[in-house]
Amino acid sequence: MSDYHAPVKDMLFAITRLADLGRINQLQGFEDATPDLVEAVLEEAAQLANEVVAPINAIGDREGTRVEDGKVIVPEEFKTVYRQITGDGWAGISQSADVGGQGLPYVVGLAVEEMWQAASLAWSLCALLTQGAARAIEEHGSEEIKALLLEKMVAGEWTGTMNLTESQAGSDLAAIRTSAAPDGNGYRVTGQKIFITWGDHEMTNNVIHLVLARLTGAPPGVRGLTLFAVPKRLIHADGSVGESNNVCVVSAEHKLGIHGSPTCVMSFENSFGYPVGELNKGLACMFTMMNHARLSVGLEGVAISERAYQQALAYARERVQGQKKGHEGGVAIIEHPDVRRMLMHMKAYIEAMRGLAYVTGTHLDRANHEPDESVRARELARLELLVPVVKGWCTEMSQSLTSLALQVHGGMGYVEETGAAQHLRDARITTIYEGTTGIQAADLIGRKILRDQGQALKLLIGDMQATVADLERHGERLAPIRSLLQTAVGELAAAALWLGDNFAGNPDTPGAVSVNFLMLMGTVAGGWQMARAASVAVEQLDAGVEDKSFFEAKIVSATYFAEQILPLAGAYRARVEAGAGTIMALSDDQF
Ligand SMILES: Cc1cc2nc3c(=O)[nH]c(=O)nc-3n(C[C@H](O)[C@H](O)[C@H](O)COP(=O)(O)OP(=O)(O)OC[C@H]3O[C@@H](n4cnc5c(N)ncnc54)[C@H](O)[C@@H]3O)c2cc1C
Repeated sequence: MSDYHAPVKDMLFAITRLADLGRINQLQGFEDATPDLVEAVLEEAAQLANEVVAPINAIGDREGTRVEDGKVIVPEEFKTVYRQITGDGWAGISQSADVGGQGLPYVVGLAVEEMWQAASLAWSLCALLTQGAARAIEEHGSEEIKALLLEKMVAGEWTGTMNLTESQAGSDLAAIRTSAAPDGNGYRVTGQKIFITWGDHEMTNNVIHLVLARLTGAPPGVRGLTLFAVPKRLIHADGSVGESNNVCVVSAEHKLGIHGSPTCVMSFENSFGYPVGELNKGLACMFTMMNHARLSVGLEGVAISERAYQQALAYARERVQGQKKGHEGGVAIIEHPDVRRMLMHMKAYIEAMRGLAYVTGTHLDRANHEPDESVRARELARLELLVPVVKGWCTEMSQSLTSLALQVHGGMGYVEETGAAQHLRDARITTIYEGTTGIQAADLIGRKILRDQGQALKLLIGDMQATVADLERHGERLAPIRSLLQTAVGELAAAALWLGDNFAGNPDTPGAVSVNFLMLMGTVAGGWQMARAASVAVEQLDAGVEDKSFFEAKIVSATYFAEQILPLAGAYRARVEAGAGTIMALSDDQF
């Protein structure tokens, strides 16, 4: 029996009420994405996630992956489930119909992706990287490469990888040494990459590696990098798969979590590669993939927290321990206020994180599909501002939320048999790969806030203030949320002003304050979504909606978020405004 039940109702609420599916549905290309269709898609995906994917999660954790005779062996169940899900056409659900996808809005694809991730994070990574690679090829590849690669990747017939990291080049991609030299109508790529997720496997007959490499004579630094699509096996002109392309797996890592996802050291030896995008502009092409991949990894924080929460909730209902006035005999631990606190904390955070992630996904849909160019540009700026926040905040919070879920289990959480520990171990990678939290925060402060003199942030704060003003129409009912959100938005605005006034004075200031600024933004933006959710809930209850319990609970979780979590905004602001002083005060040898 599966222990995961995709929260379809909450996902639909976030898509339709917070992410404004109605607007997306009016955009050209998305006319079919009606609420009814979206609900049907989510219900069907949920059934597969719950019954087909979720049961393989513990198997992947137990069996892990290994290299034998130069091949990566993954659990048999991973292969079977991969074939079933891709065979049913789920791989390219939000890819455009022109390349064989289903053409649904990105935000709908996000909800389905959340289900796969919660069901088995390790397994879901293969599709995440494949679809991200396909998007980069679709946007930057030549017509010839697109014709050769795209349909098979979108369908999941071939998988994709992202090959950036080398032993001396982690966060610092300027240090990449993998080389490339022209050869006929392509290039020969040579070098070693490390930590390559799903770098090899036998689930499909080819793997397309997107590799960042440096052409002979190219300038040093990130400006000299070019992106190449390097297949594991050569591809004939008719699309059939031929002999080996000298792409070899050196080893697979033993790691803390996501055991079912092979993390490979890859070697390329004169391997034939197709250039993707302009020469020496590889990083810009990679950024296409990164907006998607970073949003997807942020979503992993939501998904894994949801899975851990569901398990903790089930345990709290079953485990009898202690007494309580008014109850005869022992009580289930869910009756204890402190256990309630932990469950409420998880529930409120998860709803806020999901709301923010889906709303950010909508900005991607609108940035691509709005008819007016200036609206598209505004949507893109909002998307780019929020992506590092979703990635950084949701994954950082998943560390404490999966840990709380373990805490609810007491000692049974610390032993492996309940599975609570797996979620905590699996969650741990999410703040590291696809750019650590420190790198997300640097991107947020440097590229997304300071570069445009805070314009995109100012518009975001303006929208938050508009919500505060709008809440007034609900009178006393949402007064506590309104007042706490108003204060928190004020803290964010003040911290932003401080940043504008102080970043230039000391070169260490932006780096020293950036993670706290990111957490401040995540907290306030999450509270903003919760306030919007509460406002919808009041409207629905006033309209006499049937499912009162769902909407009443929404108001409670939003109030909890406002009372217990939004006040953190003040603490984050104080940390930001303390600047770089003590952080940089000790000399290296005083540590
Ligand atoms: C399981 C797993 C799967 C992975 N999958 C892939 C994959 O598919 N493809 C791929 O290319 N890579 C992959 N990676 C690599 C991953 O993206 C890197 O590990 C990550 O980007 C960090 O690089 P690093 O490990 O070299 O750490 P470092 O770059 O050495 O960072 C160490 C610490 O220093 C901080 N730091 C470094 N530079 C700065 C800076 N300029 N400013 C502030 N702080 C800084 C970091 O935040 C971090 O806390 C994977 C890694 C793992 C463990």
